[in-house]
Amino acid sequence: MPILGLGTWRLDGEECTTAVSTARELGYTHIDTADMYGNHVEVGKALAGLDRSALFVTSKVGPDDLRHDDLIATCERNLEELGLDYLDMYLLHWPNPDIPMEETFEALGELHGDGKVRSIGVSNFIIKRLAQAIEISELPICTNQVEFHPLLYQEELLRFCEANDIVVTAYCPLGRTEALDNEVVKSVAAEHGKTPAQVCLRWLFQKGIIVIPKSRSAERMRENMEIFDWELSAEAEQRIDAIPEQKRVVRLPIAEF
Ligand code: NAP
Repeated sequence: MPILGLGTWRLDGEECTTAVSTARELGYTHIDTADMYGNHVEVGKALAGLDRSALFVTSKVGPDDLRHDDLIATCERNLEELGLDYLDMYLLHWPNPDIPMEETFEALGELHGDGKVRSIGVSNFIIKRLAQAIEISELPICTNQVEFHPLLYQEELLRFCEANDIVVTAYCPLGRTEALDNEVVKSVAAEHGKTPAQVCLRWLFQKGIIVIPKSRSAERMRENMEIFDWELSAEAEQRIDAIPEQKRVVRLPIAEF
């Protein structure tokens, strides 16, 4: 799974196709979308004709479609919208406590068996739910995509995922820009001669976390890629770890957080 991807929430219409094409030209291989974003057709347009094996496409099925037949039908529709034969990763966008997970994971297993999804994962799963999912799923749960940035250091969840061979994917890795204004992040950026966005992404990368920043701008997409040829000092990393905020910028309609 490529460690840097382009997030596409709020990218719609032509702007979405242009942004995904730009990202591809810059060298992004990993695109993150979801049924709920309503932009599969536009993402698909940007991917049409490209070498499929060089792409990593993640999509997500929403919580209302986690019954067996609904999940299969949603995935098949998602593939058609994207113009793809398979997804590299299919995630449960967030849990639905009213639908037995056994049914959901059985459907994911079938999609995997049919070659329609190469790997599976979850999103917005707290430790308790993730532990249940690990018990139930016959396939490895490859990733848990959760909100993670310097204003929301989810250390316990990260340790649990590491112990269970599940990679964490950080959504809102810039805290939807709120983390860029944090004084610690800004001072670390100045000390390292980097931008606050690069500091946020590098901090996550040094923790083994996959990042999917969203941008509509080629310049910021390029900036967000330039995080691999330098390091945050251990002292700087620890100062960011110690930022006391536990601030979520995303409010999901679930009561678990
Ligand atoms: P984000 O990536 O933390 O922040 C995106 C914002 O930051 C945009 O306003 C963007 O503006 C700006 N930005 C990007 N690069 C920048 C830079 N270098 N300097 C300054 N500003 C910069 O937030 P997000 O889009 O909410 O999260 C990322 C992706 O995670 C989403 O797009 C989506 O794919 C996924 N996600 C998943 C879930 C889930 O429940 N699984 C929830 C939320 C998000 P411009 O576009 O103008 O550059």
